[in-house]
Amino acid sequence: MARIVMKFGGTSMAGTERIRRVAQIVRKQQAAGHEVAVVVSAMAGETDRLVNFCREANPLYDPAEYDVVVASGEQVTAGLLALTLQAMGCKARSWLGWQIPVHTEGAHAKARVADINSAAMISAMQAGEIAVVPGFQGIADDGRITTLGRGGSDTSAVAIAAAVKADRCDIYTDVDGVYTTDPRIVARAQKLKYVTYEEMLELASVGAKVLQTRSVSLAMKEGVRVQVLSSFIDDDAPPADDLPGTMIVSDEEMAQIMEGSDMERQLVTGIAHDKNEARIVLTRVPDKPGAVAHIFSPLAAASINVDMIIQNVGREKGETDVTFTVPQADLARAQALLEDKREEIGFNRVITDSKVAKISVVGVGMKSHAGVAATMFKALADRGINIQAISTSEIKVSVLIDEDETELAVRVLHTAYGLDAEDVAA
Ligand code: ADP
Ligand code: ASP
Ligand code: MG
Repeated sequence: MARIVMKFGGTSMAGTERIRRVAQIVRKQQAAGHEVAVVVSAMAGETDRLVNFCREANPLYDPAEYDVVVASGEQVTAGLLALTLQAMGCKARSWLGWQIPVHTEGAHAKARVADINSAAMISAMQAGEIAVVPGFQGIADDGRITTLGRGGSDTSAVAIAAAVKADRCDIYTDVDGVYTTDPRIVARAQKLKYVTYEEMLELASVGAKVLQTRSVSLAMKEGVRVQVLSSFIDDDAPPADDLPGTMIVSDEEMAQIMEGSDMERQLVTGIAHDKNEARIVLTRVPDKPGAVAHIFSPLAAASINVDMIIQNVGREKGETDVTFTVPQADLARAQALLEDKREEIGFNRVITDSKVAKISVVGVGMKSHAGVAATMFKALADRGINIQAISTSEIKVSVLIDEDETELAVRVLHTAYGLDAEDVAA
């Protein structure tokens, strides 16, 4: 017998028919003798709909009230799944964020899980009751409802798994695992049987939305075993216990797995894209010590995350252009802030472009092998794709390109690093 947390995303919960299918999958795990908690997302599209209502009601909405509105989507699906399980003869009840409670800290709309009091839930699970938990939501110290940022139900699931000391956290979604790149863009993407926490963290943070970034860092910190697998399966599909999806593993586990197999570790594990960044160019900034600090300090103070940065070769008169990227959602705020500081920074013009995309290649193999970036630049150049900015980390190289070239760039790189599956038509 094991204790298992199962999480179902928006597409898996989209309507009563889908919820019935989810209930069957859950019931099967319980029938196999496991103690089960289920974490659910709102129905697909529902959170977007609720966010739009907030924008319509008040474009400068109060994040605390936004949380009251958007947290409701998960309350509906949690109740519906509990009802469906009961209709199938299972013992089940919903546990809302404030009832468990899931204590959070930090700002509304992007709160972090602080601690979870799981004692009552564990007793219920031990007594054979399935615990159904709405993902995405928690409660702040002042008793108000919070949410964990878009895609946050993954983090709820991992946090619940850590709190109830689950043997495994199964993330059920609309693809059957983590692929070498988004399988909806590249038909020849290959499913990865294993991926390390470090690689998954990097992939998620550069746009592979299959897992929320924070869920991966939490799983890594708490040592939660996470599997990504599909809820779109037939009755005769291999059970989750046979690990049919992608397991997220530690470096040590990965080394052992590779040792026992004849597979060769690829230099690049995966490729991700992100269309949510925007580029800012400040022209004719004074080329002298302190100038760059004048640009980035006010942005940091306003919690605007700057990602890629390039300072161009100086112009003749002791001036230079500075290019950097910020999240698209923060572009207007960043632009206003910079205009405000025009005198202090001393630039000529602010040029912005939100039609850009960041393409990233990720792999731990990069730590010990040179040439990964060169392959990337050459493959893109051969297809006439212009690189506007570059950034790197120990296991990642990212480039900024024109948004219209996103799909082409991802495909070209997937082929260039030898990741294409052989038996699938391109
Ligand atoms: P859920 O609603 O279940 O949380 P998401 O839409 O958040 O699902 O995440 C699943 C989606 O992530 C897939 O449909 C797929 O298009 C996308 N995706 C992006 N990159 C990858 C990848 N490397 N592997 C698998 N899926 C990916
Ligand atoms: N429903 C929330 C969202 O769409 C949380 C989630 O599904 O993970 O962002
Ligand atoms: Mg998701």
